[in-house]
Amino acid sequence: MLDRSDRVIARPRHPEKVRLPDTPVRKKPSWIRVRAPGAHAFTATRDILRRHRLTTVCEEASCPNIGECWGKRHATFMILGDTCTRACAFCNVRTGRPGALDPHEPARVAEAVAALDLAHVVVTSVDRDDLADGGAAHFAATIGAIRAARPAASIEVLTPDFRRKEGALEIVVAAAPDVFNHNVETVPSLYRRIRPGADYRHSLRLLSRARALRPDLFTKSGIMVGLGETEAEVVAVMDDLRAASVDFLTIGQYLQPTRKHAAIDRFVTPEEFQSYKRIAEEKGFLLVASSPLTRSSYHAAQDFARLKLARQVAHRA
Ligand code: SF4
Repeated sequence: MLDRSDRVIARPRHPEKVRLPDTPVRKKPSWIRVRAPGAHAFTATRDILRRHRLTTVCEEASCPNIGECWGKRHATFMILGDTCTRACAFCNVRTGRPGALDPHEPARVAEAVAALDLAHVVVTSVDRDDLADGGAAHFAATIGAIRAARPAASIEVLTPDFRRKEGALEIVVAAAPDVFNHNVETVPSLYRRIRPGADYRHSLRLLSRARALRPDLFTKSGIMVGLGETEAEVVAVMDDLRAASVDFLTIGQYLQPTRKHAAIDRFVTPEEFQSYKRIAEEKGFLLVASSPLTRSSYHAAQDFARLKLARQVAHRA
């Protein structure tokens, strides 16, 4: 952006949050300790991503696990550009008006997948409410490019809600990802404050329709806790997700990215995460990941193997 004297003015990362009051970012408790980046593999991962001019949610969302994941050459690709058309109160991804789609991005993702030697690939995106199909065809093209470059790799997509994008989900599912993930993010009572552009019931329908379109697909969803929800509300979300036939549930601690983002209500203890895990398992999810540092794509490759095994066991029973 230029001002009248043609000086470059830094565009705020979250223009809609500039006027919000500051909320101090709370110190993390002792049980939230992350591995510092620095390993050789971390640098190699970063170099491959830079060379292919790719965006990752690992960096854009300031994920606390980046040291560990990139140190194992695992990164989560964020396609459809780096600018999101929504303005969720929890998310650190840049917001504003996105640029044009890059038609070469799917090929670059596939080349990076090969360079990183990934056996399981996670692809997510920003929300693109400005596109007629919400970016669904670009998702499908990315899945196709990865399949062509790396036929043995499993592919997991973490998609936007494709609200008011008729036919978008069908396009993504027809491209045959192995895992369809869409996060409900929080309990419905907090949607207006935390996820104002979304609709809880719509997100549940999206998950349930994905499963109905392809019954062999694994479906996955997740929530953050520590935003002010009650335990009863978390349990009710579990019931809703099971009613939508979701296989895999992830639960992690919300961490406030900046002083302008939603404040943390509290740090949920490791014991409470264990209790959520037990409750969710009793409700019949094939797999549950619940810990302070759990994120949608954290340990995704190992979890996909466990998910497949769990389904085989369930079918034999
Ligand atoms: S948990 Fe996911 S988003 Fe975070 S660093 Fe690992 S792969 Fe990236």
